[in-house]
Amino acid sequence: MDKCIFCKIRDGEIPSPKLYEDSDFFIISDINPKAKRHYLAIPKRHYALLDEVTSDDEIVLARVLRKLPMLKEELGLSNGYRLIINQGSDGGQEVPHLHIHILGGEKLN
Ligand code: 5GP
Ligand code: ZN
Repeated sequence: MDKCIFCKIRDGEIPSPKLYEDSDFFIISDINPKAKRHYLAIPKRHYALLDEVTSDDEIVLARVLRKLPMLKEELGLSNGYRLIINQGSDGGQEVPHLHIHILGGEKLN
C-alpha cells in the first residue's frame, strides 16, 4: 500500500520541517493555514481514524495532549489555542492519517 502524505513527511520523503518530534508524534506547520498559527500534531503510527486506535495505542494521544501545553510558548500559543480532529468525509478529513489541528496566534471566532 502506498504511504500517505503524513507517513512520507514522517520519513523525510516529503520535506516539511518538524517543529517538535519524539518517539510518539511530530508537529509541522499546516501548508494551508486557517489561522495565524496553524500546526498539525501527527502520531507517527498510521491510523486513518480514531476507530483504529487500540488500547495499546491510546497512550500516544494522551501524550500528545500532555505535551502541547509544554510547547505553547515556543509555538506562539501562549494566549490559548484550539484543537480540532476531523474524522471522515462528513468531518472534512482530507488526509487519512489521524492528526490534531492546533490553531491559534490570534483570537479565533
Ligand atoms: P484534514 O482535512 O485531513 O483534517 O487536514 C489535513 C491538513 O493537512 C489540511 O489542513 C492541509 O492543509 C494539510 N496538508 C495537506 N498536505 C500537506 C502537506 O504536504 N504538508 C503540510 N504541512 N500540510 C499539509
Ligand atoms: Zn500515514
